[in-house]
Amino acid sequence: MLVNPVLAKVSKDMATEEEGCLSLQGVLVPVERAAEVVIEGVDASGDPVRFELDLPEARIVQHELDHLDGVLIIDRTDEESRRNALARLRPQPVLGAR
Ligand SMILES: [Zn+2]
Repeated sequence: MLVNPVLAKVSKDMATEEEGCLSLQGVLVPVERAAEVVIEGVDASGDPVRFELDLPEARIVQHELDHLDGVLIIDRTDEESRRNALARLRPQPVLGAR
């Protein structure tokens, strides 16, 4: 468990991979992420924790941290992939979503 996570460090080294998301079913889009990150926060007892991560974990924490900021993969992809993803999502009724 990691409380109040922040990216303390991100590498200049970037990597692009197709990413999916449970919040956007059926959508895969290319997303560029830092290849290495250092993430810091506190654990359930309030003690500081720090993880140095490379791929694929570095990608996963950047994805999840984006969720905390209300940012989705379609906000991070190129314009064409974003348009295609939105076209794919639009015709499907999604219950309980906002
Ligand atoms: Zn997600």
